[in-house]
Amino acid sequence: MNVRDSEFVAGMLLENGFELVDSVEKADVVLFNSCSVRQHAEDRLFSNIGDLARLKKKKRDLVIGLMGCTAQKYKDKAIDRSPLLDIVCGPGNEADLAGILKDFMENRCAIVAVDKVNEKRPEIFSIYRENDFKAYVSIGEGCDNYCSYCIVPYVRGKERSRDAKDVIREVEELAARGFKEVTLLGQNVNSYGKAVRPSGRQAVNFVKLLERINKINGIERIRFMTSHPKDVHTELFKAMRDLEKVCEHLHLPLQSGSDRILKLMNRGYTAKRYLKLVEDYRKIVCGGSLTTDIIVGFSSETEADFKKTLSVMRSIEFDSAFTFKYSPRPPAKSAFLKDDVPAAAKEKRLQSIIGLQVASSKKRNESLIGSVVEVLVDGRNKKDEKSLSGRTRTNKAVIFEGDRSLVGSLLNIEIRSATSFALRGRIEAGSSTFLSPTRQAVS
Ligand code: SAH
Ligand code: SF4
Repeated sequence: MNVRDSEFVAGMLLENGFELVDSVEKADVVLFNSCSVRQHAEDRLFSNIGDLARLKKKKRDLVIGLMGCTAQKYKDKAIDRSPLLDIVCGPGNEADLAGILKDFMENRCAIVAVDKVNEKRPEIFSIYRENDFKAYVSIGEGCDNYCSYCIVPYVRGKERSRDAKDVIREVEELAARGFKEVTLLGQNVNSYGKAVRPSGRQAVNFVKLLERINKINGIERIRFMTSHPKDVHTELFKAMRDLEKVCEHLHLPLQSGSDRILKLMNRGYTAKRYLKLVEDYRKIVCGGSLTTDIIVGFSSETEADFKKTLSVMRSIEFDSAFTFKYSPRPPAKSAFLKDDVPAAAKEKRLQSIIGLQVASSKKRNESLIGSVVEVLVDGRNKKDEKSLSGRTRTNKAVIFEGDRSLVGSLLNIEIRSATSFALRGRIEAGSSTFLSPTRQAVS
């Protein structure tokens, strides 16, 4: 979501006469986009801003701004924490950034623009994108779920779904420009359309939105995140099975396997409901991948609670997982409970689930050896310049040898080996970029 917000701001500034440069040293304006979901991200942010002190001494006119959730959380206090900051701009105020920057450059007086947390972002269609064939498309902002550990509803405001016609128009424009893959973004995509829009009408739910995007010529792959277990139903899985462009990958955060902890987290489901969803998903979406988020060391989490998480993870065998140590985020509700799991226990639990996940990922990836998968080629493999890397429809990284001219195309790759983190293979004999099969071909 932050990547998309940065593109939005960069595009808007480009249209207002600014230019992008390739290094901080060359910049007249440096904007930090920030995440406040965990304390660690926030600490790194302020340390990165602090790193600019030397540059600012040399270049007194350098403008340093903070945007994103940490700006909204700290407001004017961000400047107390980092006096290098000239501008603080919350996520809801980002559409005003061009004016804010011009104002600052004329008056040289610090500007704090925050609190438009519940407003709808204007439909500014700047053409700037970081990638030429894969694009993020926001389908809504904010969140009404109030998971007790989560700061998002406080800094991103109430859930607002974007009008379906605006989403469709954006995807159509992307298709016309040659984009092949779109990832639909929302804090909880499954509740798309539920929140009443200012105009009071929103008949399109998430599955209907997928059906409409599936009809757009030129788009080959549709991804989405994030799904919430309390709002996911088999209707979505059937859409994933039946709509040929919708990729067979579900990111479904579990957070914990203990019902007591899930209740304290205000997640609205039990481990049993989660397991049933997974069973239905795997039955309906044949060969689909499943990824998750897990938090360890939530307030009052005992060894017995943690073992329940391990046990659910063991029985599901996720394809991959993002794993986090619990971090209290006031004003989120759980920050008022005791953060009573010792740091060493959190670390130990984290290492246990990472170990378990690495083994599950390896097993699931190895099961693909010998199959042929459709890959959208992303670019050169960073670790080995001679190889290319891309993603399967199930969002697994695939490394293979090939010519740079293949970047952006869809290829069939025969999988020869696998690790926890990636598949390795070779271009299937006779695989043609013109075939562009929209289904994963599993031999
Ligand atoms: N709306 C998305 C993204 C939420 S933030 C969703 O609901 O999945 C991404 C992940 O960060 C969450 O799923 C959770 O696992 C983790 N997270 C959020 N708040 C946290 C906190 N206070 N401490 C540790 N991890 C947290
Ligand atoms: Fe946060 Fe929960 Fe909303 Fe996700 S669904 S953004 S974890 S409150």
